[in-house]
Amino acid sequence: MKFIKNLIKEIKKMYDENNIFAKILRKEIPCDKIYEDEFSLFFNDINPKAKIHVLGIPKFPCSNFSEFLKNADNENISSFFRSVELVINKLNIEKNGYRLITNTGQNGGQEVPHFHIHILAGEKIGVLR
Ligand code: AMP
Repeated sequence: MKFIKNLIKEIKKMYDENNIFAKILRKEIPCDKIYEDEFSLFFNDINPKAKIHVLGIPKFPCSNFSEFLKNADNENISSFFRSVELVINKLNIEKNGYRLITNTGQNGGQEVPHFHIHILAGEKIGVLR
């Protein structure tokens, strides 16, 4: 237990508690919620790049995909990705298709340093470049 508490402390040291998604998770700022459970939260992107643009975030404090996979436990990881699928079903976008994106770091064009998945759908999403 002590080991886990220390590990969480170490992870939190690397994590910017003031990023906008951390504030949304603490309910300091609102979001247009689509789905929430113990491990994750899904909400509409404030500046949508497609007719449907939902962001999914784990509640676990992690800056990016690799940190989430390295530091969260298996239950948390599998629950998050199952929730992505649940939201895809809820949005009814499986048949016509969708795109999942996660941007990481400077080269990935990541703006918010809390791991998130973009779910883009509702129209044909263009080629990446
Ligand atoms: P990324 O560039 O992958 O870090 O994406 C960050 C995304 O967060 C962008 O698509 C923004 O439009 C979106 N975003 C920023 N602030 C908010 C907010 N308060 N509520 C919803 N989406 C937001």
